[in-house]
Amino acid sequence: MSNENRPKSSHWADINAEKIIREKGKKEHYTCASGITPSGTVHIGNFREIISVDLVVRALRDKGENVRFIYSWDDYDVFRKVPKNMPKQELLETFLRKPITLVPDVLGTEESYARANEKNLEELLPVVGVKPEYIYQASKYRNSEYAEGIKKALENRDVIRRQLNESRTTDLPDDWYPVSVFCAKCDRDTTKVTGWDGHYGVEYECESCGNKETVDLKTTAAVKLPWRIDWPMRWAYEDVDFEPAGKDHHSEGGSFDTARKTSLEVYGQEAPVTFQYDFISIKGRGGKISSSTGEVVSLIDVLEVYTPEVTRYMFAGTRPNTEFSISFDLDVLKIYEDYDKCERTYFEKPESPKALKKWEKQARIYELSQVDGIPEVMPYQIQIRLLSTLLQIFSGDVDRVIEYLGDVKPQQVDKLKAKAQCAWNWVKNFAPEDFKFSLREDTDDKIEVGEVEGKALKLLSDKIEAYMDSCDEKEFSTHLYDVARELEIETSDFFPVVYKALISKEKGPRLISFLYIIGKEKLVSLLGKY
Ligand SMILES: [Zn+2]
Repeated sequence: MSNENRPKSSHWADINAEKIIREKGKKEHYTCASGITPSGTVHIGNFREIISVDLVVRALRDKGENVRFIYSWDDYDVFRKVPKNMPKQELLETFLRKPITLVPDVLGTEESYARANEKNLEELLPVVGVKPEYIYQASKYRNSEYAEGIKKALENRDVIRRQLNESRTTDLPDDWYPVSVFCAKCDRDTTKVTGWDGHYGVEYECESCGNKETVDLKTTAAVKLPWRIDWPMRWAYEDVDFEPAGKDHHSEGGSFDTARKTSLEVYGQEAPVTFQYDFISIKGRGGKISSSTGEVVSLIDVLEVYTPEVTRYMFAGTRPNTEFSISFDLDVLKIYEDYDKCERTYFEKPESPKALKKWEKQARIYELSQVDGIPEVMPYQIQIRLLSTLLQIFSGDVDRVIEYLGDVKPQQVDKLKAKAQCAWNWVKNFAPEDFKFSLREDTDDKIEVGEVEGKALKLLSDKIEAYMDSCDEKEFSTHLYDVARELEIETSDFFPVVYKALISKEKGPRLISFLYIIGKEKLVSLLGKY
């Protein structure tokens, strides 16, 4: 879409992109960062951070800037707690206090538990158009790449202690060092640093195995920085310009607060531009557990019901500091309708400046929701409710739905199929019972009906055969009501019988449209036998 006559965007991602450029100055490239400890499944709340960064990265790139989007796996963090949902609890317990990169993958065949969690997300993110550069902290630390950063922390031991003490209730002891050590013999962090030679030599003792030695920061894999110091060290190392964080880090005296001070006083650099993102809650799963983890809801569970575009849309369309729910109940229909409306708006660009301003807001959300660029033609517009009805009539066969619709352009097929797959998953797994139905088979026995009802069904079948082809829905409704009138039954008694003969339930989608969707042939075979 050309930028001619386009009003200035007020989207939060664009506002943040401008802020980064303003505060960090004009740069060759900007570095935007995100990261997490892979100590469990990366849940959808964690995904909010990643997608928030991705949206800002896109906003910067749309301004013509070069951007490096890094994602740090903090896989040199210590394994503190065995997750309850994991098998082989006893085996895992033997790895407590060791780096998570050494913990075995008890659920699969990856080289470690951390790697399994990393891989799950890395394979999924491109589906929603997110493609960061991954940085593995375990490998960085074990290759001593952070030796200078660690030395700097040791040189500024007193400064850092003062900074941390400002947000602590009890002061750090005088013999505290701003490093932690994984014992080179037993791999546990049950160590105490006992000295530093003023250069690269760090001396420690291990409480678990009694090991005592001096290691060289330039060659050792043992030494790392605690989180509150590791974070600002990496901001400096990667020259990070932007990194958002959750509420837990952004509270007063939280890790962002102390990291900001350490970044400035120790590493000589202003903290990155940031914002706080809020929690995500989950609604309407009705006790259904997550398909992938059994516990937390992650991106893969959301993608079961929402297309990648609609998934992005939920985040792009909500300010990061606003809490919202991802729904699996009837609200799914509403989210899709909102997205479809946003899509139609995008493709119907108005002329007048006033209308254009309103359009811009939706248009920008639409652009940021796309995975691989703007589609050449507007995707096929079909209400998710109707799509769900069609899928149920055709037992989930998307090709038959497309054939039935008749006007789907070749360029629209892939996206429609993706949407249909999500709609079908939703119908099967999450839709309320009264939303679900399946059409009776021609070979099924007749339902039990009274004499008059049976006559009514037969008469309806006759009228369908006679008039359906030549009437539209509105015209045919006269014939439908005629059946009830001719046999002197109330429509409130008649309609439930029709539904029962079609779908074995007393209620269903609006009857006239429903009959037209099912079609003459099938109706005659189901109703004509009474
Ligand atoms: Zn040890």
